[in-house]
Amino acid sequence: MSAAPFEPEFQQAHDEIVSSLRDSTLFEVKPEYEKVLKIVAVPERIIQFRVSWENDKGEQEVATGFRVQYNSAKGPYKGGLRFHPTVNLSILKFLGFEQIFKNALTGLDMGGAKGGLCVDLKGRSDGEIRRICYSFMRELSRHIGQDTDVPAGDIGVGGREIGYLFGAYRAYRNSWEGVLTGKGLNWGGSLIRPEATGYGVIYFTQAMIDYATKGKESFEGKRVAISGSGNVAQYAALKVIELGGKVVSLSDSKGCIISESGITSEQVSAIADAKIRFKSLEEIVGEFSAFAENKVQYVAGARPWTHAGKVDIALPCATQNEVSGDEAKALVAAGVKFVAEGSNMGCTPEAIHAFETARLTATSTQGAVWYVGGKASNLGGVLVSGLEMAQNSQRMTWTRETVDQELKRGMINCFNDCINAAQTYTNETNKDTLPSLVKGANLASFIKVADA
Ligand code: GLU
Repeated sequence: MSAAPFEPEFQQAHDEIVSSLRDSTLFEVKPEYEKVLKIVAVPERIIQFRVSWENDKGEQEVATGFRVQYNSAKGPYKGGLRFHPTVNLSILKFLGFEQIFKNALTGLDMGGAKGGLCVDLKGRSDGEIRRICYSFMRELSRHIGQDTDVPAGDIGVGGREIGYLFGAYRAYRNSWEGVLTGKGLNWGGSLIRPEATGYGVIYFTQAMIDYATKGKESFEGKRVAISGSGNVAQYAALKVIELGGKVVSLSDSKGCIISESGITSEQVSAIADAKIRFKSLEEIVGEFSAFAENKVQYVAGARPWTHAGKVDIALPCATQNEVSGDEAKALVAAGVKFVAEGSNMGCTPEAIHAFETARLTATSTQGAVWYVGGKASNLGGVLVSGLEMAQNSQRMTWTRETVDQELKRGMINCFNDCINAAQTYTNETNKDTLPSLVKGANLASFIKVADA
């Protein structure tokens, strides 16, 4: 399955899917699907290349760039680019592998890929970031195209970086194509693309609340702990606030902020403005008077899960493995009812085990918990990327309302696909009341890819 001696993140993502499938009746009912497992585990192609640039001090720097073109059974390779110091092949293989199944769950025809660069962009000037992007694209441009492979953003790659990468592609290939998604609005981008991942997580969670409470409850009045403070966390927080929920936390790699009265949309906007300039939450909270007014507390070196008090809904929106088994147990004790990932593989296997156990063993004193992994709940981003590709092909721009409606529809379709697959291929006693969304997402997506 893997030629490398140790790829822990990839192994984790692979094992999660395989154990879901083996723990179901799928291979009994359709034994022919089993052979797909080992084929889909191996990337169709991995491109590894040198990226070098001159930094602002006039020194030459070099880093390793990658594109993992994992699977194209369902359509052109599609998936983001991550620029972060933790990037390595294990991480990109896990992300690419997850992307195959996530993209299948969008209901659109896209293959799966992921790429990135092992680099820390913090503190670098716009000019230097542009030189890094141009150097990255000099090689990548040989391997991508609007019908071949369409990258987008991920951690460390936002609108600014997509702009530089797109300019570089045009320059190197002398071609205007919808070759990247997440583009600016006046050069081929889609409305709602920046909001899509965060909004999508909330639409999916809304569907969970609706199903579990038979339409009796919503986000209104719920305490929502969110981690992260990047694009996904920001728009998830804004949507929660819009729907009447209380955002009690956000975080970054150095610490978290907790607000008893709820983080406001003005504070989320201040964070968004400052984050593009690489400010930390600690600096932001200290600098803006808006944070002093409703007593936002900064906790250094901590994630929010054990600091947010009573929590109804937890949304990990930062990075992989950001909820440990102990933190998950603490969330269950704090009353959490719904957990939906905005990040990819946000929960460790131990955390998933704690949530799934709580789902299956609800008592009158400790209610059930319903958990969904990112490959279902965070697919809004790539779904709207697919819509951006469609708009580029049509040479048209759809309205905000149309894209938002399609996003909502896609998230609800995905939710229903997960429910149906879990009910069809598992024998759990509570599969009608709270079917496993972990197994449902893995089963529904695997079947789509295997069929293709
Ligand atoms: N990086 C995002 C994800 O993890 C978006 C990918 C895309 O739009 O291609 O799904």
